[in-house]
Amino acid sequence: MSLIKKTCKYYLKLHDTDVDDDSWRGGGYDGNFGDELVCFEEVWDDSDYCILHMNFPEDEKSADFQVLLEEKNKKIEENIKNYKGNFKGAILSEINFKNRNIDGIDLSYSTIKGDVVFTGATINADFSDSTINGDVFFNEAIINAGFNGSVITGNVFLNDATIESFVTFGGATIKGNVDLTNLTIEGELDFDFYGSAIIEGDVLFNGSKAEKYALLKGAIINGKKIGD
Ligand SMILES: [Zn+2]
Repeated sequence: MSLIKKTCKYYLKLHDTDVDDDSWRGGGYDGNFGDELVCFEEVWDDSDYCILHMNFPEDEKSADFQVLLEEKNKKIEENIKNYKGNFKGAILSEINFKNRNIDGIDLSYSTIKGDVVFTGATINADFSDSTINGDVFFNEAIINAGFNGSVITGNVFLNDATIESFVTFGGATIKGNVDLTNLTIEGELDFDFYGSAIIEGDVLFNGSKAEKYALLKGAIINGKKIGD
């Protein structure tokens, strides 16, 4: 270990719309230089990146992978305990916050290698521009979340969930199905927030308390835009 603290090389080119967005401040890292957001966390071990921004080794069965996974999970819990909800650009294996109360977590620009599980949770989260290589579970959850610009390779489950104020999928691509069965919408569900969501699978909505048209307006399903 070097005596000089090296900081993480992760940075994010902010869109114009992001520059005035203070939502990520107060997190573990915060440096906003013009249109770039820079990570100030110390690097992990001898790498160029901090624990959350470090990529996993290829071999998921390797000891290095397991160690990194444990350290990332430890860091996530530590940050949440300390009300540091900034996980912008984090590279994570999977997220499991089943039955938890998670308020103000920023996972925008993150890469999640597996499932995102918030079953039964109460959650307020930003997943904008994230890449989720798995399913997203919000069954029986109370949820406010933005998935604008996200790419989700699996399915999205909102069965028996309640949308308190908003869930947006503007410009998102969902490769699997979207299950809205028995979804309660107190606020709004938006598939056309600054751009249509593309849903490659099916949409299930039996028992939803809002009508189909309102639910899916603006979404592109099987190449057809709903509402046109
Ligand atoms: Zn970092």
